[in-house]
Amino acid sequence: AVEIHNAHKWYGTRHVLAGVDLTIAAGTVATILGPSGAGKSTLLRAVNHLEKLDVGYVSLNGEPIGVRRRSDRLKELSERAILAQRRRIGFVFQSFNLFPHLTALENVAAAPIATRSASREQARAAARELLDRVGLADRADSYPRQLSGGQQQRVAIARALALSPGVILFDEPTSALDPELVGEVLRVMRDLASTGTTLIVVTHELGFAREAADLVVLLDQGRIVEQGTPADVLDHPRHPRTREFLSHMR
Ligand code: ATP
Ligand code: MG
Repeated sequence: AVEIHNAHKWYGTRHVLAGVDLTIAAGTVATILGPSGAGKSTLLRAVNHLEKLDVGYVSLNGEPIGVRRRSDRLKELSERAILAQRRRIGFVFQSFNLFPHLTALENVAAAPIATRSASREQARAAARELLDRVGLADRADSYPRQLSGGQQQRVAIARALALSPGVILFDEPTSALDPELVGEVLRVMRDLASTGTTLIVVTHELGFAREAADLVVLLDQGRIVEQGTPADVLDHPRHPRTREFLSHMR
């Protein structure tokens, strides 16, 4: 499970995470909804310690990420130890972030080769399989600029899968895409959801939340307003703030 324990983050005097406690069971899909500035990206980045919390910590299967407990305090791990932990947590960004000078195949194989988790040949063979899985077997030798946004995002997903992470974080993975390209990316994500990988997805796609999520979380002003199943939160919201948020989405 991914467990977020009492997460607080300040930027100056702005309290952007104000005590978030959240448990996401292994193999489940959580979607995080909320207005702009709610702290969604900050919370997601805290999960793999790209963002350092001021109070609280995140654990993966009981192991704190980025820190270790020392008596009653948390001590930052070494950069090297943090990088090793991050390999177990994939990240897919809004803006693809592929290496422009590498082909699709090379993008997917890069991390396994760099971390020596596989030989060059094994990494390339595995990358081909991953590209096949996201429907891009025929584009292995294309460079990012030769691919559509939806194809680039699918390469980014294949790349996130290359180190076989138990958890993948998605920060608005479809919001930079033209509407007609959103579906192909969501399809790949749904597919992933059915394989037992834990997914934490910040998104405005209520359809995806409804169909693929086990847990829907509404974040507002750095706090969880409401969480539950899609049917609970999307169809029978209890909190006025959730109702107001959803009314703007439809
Ligand atoms: P969006 O839907 O627009 O992506 P979000 O919910 O992801 O919003 P965050 O990016 O987590 O929101 O930002 C939460 C708050 O923290 C915002 O008020 C933002 O301006 C502020 N913030 C984020 N990053 C920084 C930073 N590096 N320095 C100062 N303030 C920041
Ligand atoms: Mg954001």
